[in-house]
Amino acid sequence: MTIAADKYGTLFNKMEQGFCIVEVIFDDAGQAVDYRFLETNPVFEKQTGLQNAKGKTIKELQPAHEAHWFRIYGDVVKTGESIHFENEAAYLAGGVWYEVFAFPFDKPEKKQVAIFFNDITERKKTERNQTFLSEISKDLVELDTISATMERMGEKIAKHFRVPWASFAEFTDDLETGIVPFDWHDANVPSLKGSYRMDQLWTPEQMAKNNTELMVTTDTQNDPRLFAQTYAALGIGSFISIPLAEHDKFRFMLSILDAKPRLWHEDEIELMRELTVRIWTRLEKARAEEAMRKSEDKYRSLFNTMDEGFSVLEIIYNDAGEAMDFLFIEVNKEFERQTGLQDPTGKLGSEVVPHTEPYWLNIYDTVVRTGEQTRFENYHEDSRRWYESYASRVGGPGSRQVAIVFRDITDRKKAEERQTFLLKLTDALRPLADPEEIQSVAADLLGAHLKVNQSLYAETIGDYVNISHSYAIGVPPMIGKFRHQDYGIRLIQGYRAGEMQVCYNTRTDPTISEAERQVLSSAYISAYVAVPLIKSGEWLGTLAVLSIVPRDWKQNEIDLVKETAERTWIAIERAKSEDALRKSEQQLKQLLQLREDFIGIASQELQTPVTTMKVFAEVAQEKLEEHGSKEEGELMRRLNRQIDRLTRVINDLLDASNIAEGKLRIYLEPTDMNEVIQEQVEEIKKIAAHQFNLQLNELPIIDTDKERMGQVIINLLANAVKYSSEDTTVTITTEPVTNGIQVTVRDEGCGITREEQPKIFDRFYRITDKNKTPSPGMGLGLYISSQIIQRHGGTLTVESEPGKGSVFVVTLPVEE
Ligand code: ADP
Repeated sequence: MTIAADKYGTLFNKMEQGFCIVEVIFDDAGQAVDYRFLETNPVFEKQTGLQNAKGKTIKELQPAHEAHWFRIYGDVVKTGESIHFENEAAYLAGGVWYEVFAFPFDKPEKKQVAIFFNDITERKKTERNQTFLSEISKDLVELDTISATMERMGEKIAKHFRVPWASFAEFTDDLETGIVPFDWHDANVPSLKGSYRMDQLWTPEQMAKNNTELMVTTDTQNDPRLFAQTYAALGIGSFISIPLAEHDKFRFMLSILDAKPRLWHEDEIELMRELTVRIWTRLEKARAEEAMRKSEDKYRSLFNTMDEGFSVLEIIYNDAGEAMDFLFIEVNKEFERQTGLQDPTGKLGSEVVPHTEPYWLNIYDTVVRTGEQTRFENYHEDSRRWYESYASRVGGPGSRQVAIVFRDITDRKKAEERQTFLLKLTDALRPLADPEEIQSVAADLLGAHLKVNQSLYAETIGDYVNISHSYAIGVPPMIGKFRHQDYGIRLIQGYRAGEMQVCYNTRTDPTISEAERQVLSSAYISAYVAVPLIKSGEWLGTLAVLSIVPRDWKQNEIDLVKETAERTWIAIERAKSEDALRKSEQQLKQLLQLREDFIGIASQELQTPVTTMKVFAEVAQEKLEEHGSKEEGELMRRLNRQIDRLTRVINDLLDASNIAEGKLRIYLEPTDMNEVIQEQVEEIKKIAAHQFNLQLNELPIIDTDKERMGQVIINLLANAVKYSSEDTTVTITTEPVTNGIQVTVRDEGCGITREEQPKIFDRFYRITDKNKTPSPGMGLGLYISSQIIQRHGGTLTVESEPGKGSVFVVTLPVEE
């Protein structure tokens, strides 16, 4: 040993780096296959774990030592060049990484290499772990479920840790059961997928911990926390398990497991921990994203499936702070459907819906300013629809966005409009009596409502139509007589068949001939809707609305023309029938007057000859009774009685006629009613076999037409006799009453029902019984009597019970 060598020797022994000098051993082919240690320092022993290496070859010390070491040192010998590198010696000191500086030593033929090295295992592991982690992280980005994660990464993880298993377990809430839905395992071990009773794996103490700390077991067969047999049965020798808590509760576990006992390195544990955190974070995120997507989907699908249109608009203000326009931020499908606007998102209102009425923007502006939700119904010209909308601000003050939920209420509005129109039409037509006026008013209202150029009613007369009135705006009214066929044979045929005719454009309608087109165009007709009126198969007329420009008639408009036509016809029918009723009433009145006149005239005309007849008959009777035979006298007497009857009939008729014309004359004189009654009873006795019971009390003298009073009394007596049998009694009572007198005539006859009682005082009213032969009479007696009594300021009333009899009561006032 030289001093120098000794000096170096000291240096080598003191330095921190490992140092050795080796002699590379080549085979016959010149391949480096081994090396022998010529010199080592104390750090060498520490860093390689090789004791007393000097003089021995590396293969003797560690047969598995990697071949790359020989190759590198062989190259140094061969090239004579130094080298600096990092490499792994997996079989030295439980796996080490070295940073090496190697250079040729001594003469080349000695094949010696001097080596300085550092143990960089820690750094390397960290680096490797980092690489692994960053790879995993890259993969993780695409993975969003635990199953995908375990499928894609189980193998990677297991391979990295050099273990046969990587598994994921889930725990039930009570921790009783652990389920392994996913695992990766190599070919030498069985899968761990399945369910496990945790109390068969873990001791009660371990179970009770419910800890979220990682669990590292170097040897399952010698771990007091575990039931060794269970693990032995599963073939698990050691493991690292990282529990994952959800809401602070132990729920999942990621594990790497080895079949043999294993002393886990700190960096492995650390890596597992780090790995779990990453996987977990990613899964959590994926889960959150999934939840978010679900709720977003839900919102989306609600958004797109709801019946209401929905849009978010941003209001655009100018520098002066005035709302100028709006931007479509978002719309749903229904929005597009209802408005007919395709994908307006990102476009301005002024671009997409340039005719939007200013009130829309005003409402949005107000909503943005006040933040108050509003509901409104508005018409929108661009889409030609009515909307019911709810607008509310999106976000707090300062936000310029408005969310609008709306519904197309065009149909409802149209129905309302239609209702209003029809109501107006009915009201307008109701008071009208003239069919022509009804037609004109209907045509005018319809024309104004539909905003057409013309609206008219054409009456069919033979081969022509006659139009006497037309609502016309912007065109000369089409009034006059027109020949049907000029307007189209097809049209006329349709009318006759009762079919309504709709034409949207006369210029392009293929069913219209060129000649017809000319006629239509000269009449300024480019579109029309016409409804024929058919009565008993006959085409009576047509209600038509005409447009000077082609028009896309809406179904509701077409329906309205039809409805108007129908209502018009009904109104006309009504007017006609009212007219007919009026006429028949008038006729009846005339007829009644005629009868009145006839009765008056006839009775007047009869009176004179009958009176004359009576005079002669009486004279004749007297003469015959004096000079002639008894039989002839008797005949004459009968004749006289019939003449009396005839006279009474004529008188009744005359009286009735006079009463009807207000010509009944009354001549008042002081009258004792008892006297009148006695006289009439005497008269009736002549012809009646009844008993007459008179209960006459003293009465004041009153002013009456004595003769007429006699007529009333004889009438009542005659009725009493006529409507009761001969063996009954007629009772006549008189008595003074307050401010007057009362006369009652009571019989014991057939009586009068309650319903008939008020009617018997009517003119010509008689109660007729089909089962009985009618008693003689005209139904005038009570009428005349009651009129007479009324003329005296009194009343004539009846009380009666069928089968028991009737009481007629005359009350007359006493004049002061
Ligand atoms: P008429 O000539 O038929 O008697 P009246 O005017 O005197 O006409 O009477 C009208 C009707 O009232 C009679 O047809 C009869 O049916 C009924 N009537 C009148 N008086 C009596 C009575 N005392 N008892 C029952 N019915 C009576």
